Amino acid sequence: MSKFWSPIVSQLTPYTPGEQPKLARLVKLNTNESPYGPSPRALAAIAGEVSDNLRLYPNPDAEPLKLAIAARHAGDGITPREVFVGNGSDEVLAHAFHALLKHGKPILFPDITYSFYPTYAGLYEVQYRAVPLADDFTIRADDYLGQGDAIGGIIFPNPNAPTGCLMPLAEVERILQGNPQRVVVVDEAYIDFGGISAIGLVQRYPNLLVVQTLSKSRALAGMRVGFAIGHADLIDALERVKNSFNSYPLDRPAIAGATAAIEDEAYFRKTCDLVIASRERLAASLKALGFDVLPSAANFVFVRHPGHDAATLAARLRGDGIIVRHFTSARINQFLRITIGTDEACDILVESLRRHLG
Ligand code: PMP
Repeated sequence: MSKFWSPIVSQLTPYTPGEQPKLARLVKLNTNESPYGPSPRALAAIAGEVSDNLRLYPNPDAEPLKLAIAARHAGDGITPREVFVGNGSDEVLAHAFHALLKHGKPILFPDITYSFYPTYAGLYEVQYRAVPLADDFTIRADDYLGQGDAIGGIIFPNPNAPTGCLMPLAEVERILQGNPQRVVVVDEAYIDFGGISAIGLVQRYPNLLVVQTLSKSRALAGMRVGFAIGHADLIDALERVKNSFNSYPLDRPAIAGATAAIEDEAYFRKTCDLVIASRERLAASLKALGFDVLPSAANFVFVRHPGHDAATLAARLRGDGIIVRHFTSARINQFLRITIGTDEACDILVESLRRHLG
């Protein structure tokens, strides 16, 4: 606290990212990164931009990337005018709070969800109501219907984080149909690991904004690229906020690397399939050890053991050089969120757990 701070600063609750430990030889399963590298084509494109050109500003609209994203979704009628890109999907989400969710009324999101949402709500002074998940930790579409004019918008991840639970697309559509007067943001950070994207609904629902990231299924977390797809009016609002904040959120290597990553569909499919297969294998091993494993359509599993305290297990794993994520909030403090690594990394985790469970 300092007398130099603007008043809002002391009221903020900043987001706490998962640890990026400095220790060597860790099995790092705590921040949902990909165990595989980015597409070789992306790496080549990035290397190609490390040149004298770096003295020049990048394309402020990241046009090649918008074209590539629109082309990939051309089957759903998406054009570049319906694409927004930003410095990680976190930045895209922040702009969405500012540009589309701030109407002087509370917005709705689940009580157990991506913990950046309350942080953005605090930063942009958006009121919110946290809607409890069902007992099985799924999001109930009905809880987001029948709100009349009382709410300013809705945001939720699908699959949800940190549970991994997927809402069927028909349920997403029911939420869209029930809320034609407000924006519904569907945060699809993990959709590529088993869900069906809501991008196919964009042409029919002008109130839908779908947000995705290249940090997970395209293994570019270190590059910081995310995007949104929605009606051109929604994209315009995001562009207006972006161009009032930072005209060049994506640098030259990021635009080139992300474009190549989007275009390399074969590598994307191959690595997603590997992660999905490893997830099913890990889930089976954990169940065999007595864990409850929530059904996951993401690149992580959310698990609890009826006979063992989650914080103690996380500490024991850490002692073995294995990092997983443990959240301390009341309803989920007996769960561990475990990122899907290679099969080898998952086996190291399972062996360590087997020893500690006795
Ligand atoms: N949404 C959800 C649900 C997430 O878990 C994450 C990753 N922390 C993000 C968005 C942000 O990802 P990024 O900024 O790396 O695109």
